[in-house]
Amino acid sequence: MKLILLGPPGAGKGTQAKMLTDHFGIPQISTGDILRAAVKDGTPMGLRAKGYMDSGLLVPDEVVVGIVRERLQQSDCKSGFILDGFPRTVPQADALRETLESLAKDLDAVISLKVDTEALVGRLTGRRTCRQCGRGFHVVFDPPRQTGSCDACGGELYQRDDDREETIRKRLSVYSEQTAPLEAYYTGAGLLASVDGMLEINVVQQRIRGILQAR
Ligand code: AMP
Repeated sequence: MKLILLGPPGAGKGTQAKMLTDHFGIPQISTGDILRAAVKDGTPMGLRAKGYMDSGLLVPDEVVVGIVRERLQQSDCKSGFILDGFPRTVPQADALRETLESLAKDLDAVISLKVDTEALVGRLTGRRTCRQCGRGFHVVFDPPRQTGSCDACGGELYQRDDDREETIRKRLSVYSEQTAPLEAYYTGAGLLASVDGMLEINVVQQRIRGILQAR
């Protein structure tokens, strides 16, 4: 299964990707997670990416294209992968097509998760993540049993720097300008299917699996 999850920040791509990973046993490739790890480790790529990420802008195409090209060649991607947060521009989508061609692989589907803008802002401002195991929570919709600590491992919960309201608005406008055109791009390629991302998490997952089974 070779899949792209498309959708604005807060649409639920990460949550759905993790569930698909468990179900299909294929890796989730999140460029956002890879970049945040590089920032945390202080690598040259992380230092370059940090300013863009903190301001809600996209990291330059050549950086993320390089990350994905390398990652797709690793052995765990042989039977499939879920791309979460990539591609985000038409040049990235073109680069992905070339990379997959060179690896003799084809995409099976591009699933677009649809969520209202105001719901996205509410989801993102309340989002908290465990520093230790990466599990996500929401202060209202999915609160931890004890404020500030992870139910799964007791790790400290933190708010991403870019999940503050002014940065969120910027990220959403970047999405509509630079990433939303990919819907037409993948519709043209006969790959796009849309799912209502306002539905309950498990229902969204069932709809995605239904689409994948039909392909
Ligand atoms: P995410 O975790 O997917 O919301 O990504 C967080 C931030 O990482 C984004 O706001 C961008 O600054 C950067 N980023 C992640 N993926 C990409 C990508 N495919 N292209 C450019 N920047 C990206």
